[in-house]
Amino acid sequence: MPRQLVPDRLLPFFSMITDVSRKRDYMNLAIQEAEKSDQAYTVGAILVKDNNLVGRGHREISSSKQGEELIDIVHAEDLTIQMAGEQASESILYSTLEPCCYRRHNNNNNSYNPCVELIVSAGISRVIIGMVDLNPKISGKGIIALHKAGIKVEYYNNGIERRLFSLVSRKRFESQK
Ligand SMILES: [Zn+2]
Repeated sequence: MPRQLVPDRLLPFFSMITDVSRKRDYMNLAIQEAEKSDQAYTVGAILVKDNNLVGRGHREISSSKQGEELIDIVHAEDLTIQMAGEQASESILYSTLEPCCYRRHNNNNNSYNPCVELIVSAGISRVIIGMVDLNPKISGKGIIALHKAGIKVEYYNNGIERRLFSLVSRKRFESQK
């Protein structure tokens, strides 16, 4: 078994697990989205409103920045929220990984907004994550920030732990060689 995807210390920050129909199907869609990425470390997300898919995206290199010395990474949640537009309001976000709550500036002093801020300003009502960020410096901070902003956070990884873990493991990439 991979490492524990959601550490016990973060459980107080999660809401009661709801009976959202097709939750496993939706998390599988987020995983499929992540698997489209050619990055060794990747994330996938989808937005669901009234049981309709209104957005999807995966972590990727910004197309406008390709070829520059420093490449920018666009986050899955960002692309997903952009695709949904106004339909993001009151929707449910499924993300394979907890959303980020800060982003470093690059050499051009540009920065994307952290996904937690994008989620809050889009009016998303609930976030369902597959796993907590494994980086100990980050792990759980995005979940706590969402919780503090009044957004309900759940996790769902039942039976799909290995697939989720492979998205943030270089083994996925190496196994393709
Ligand atoms: Zn992010």
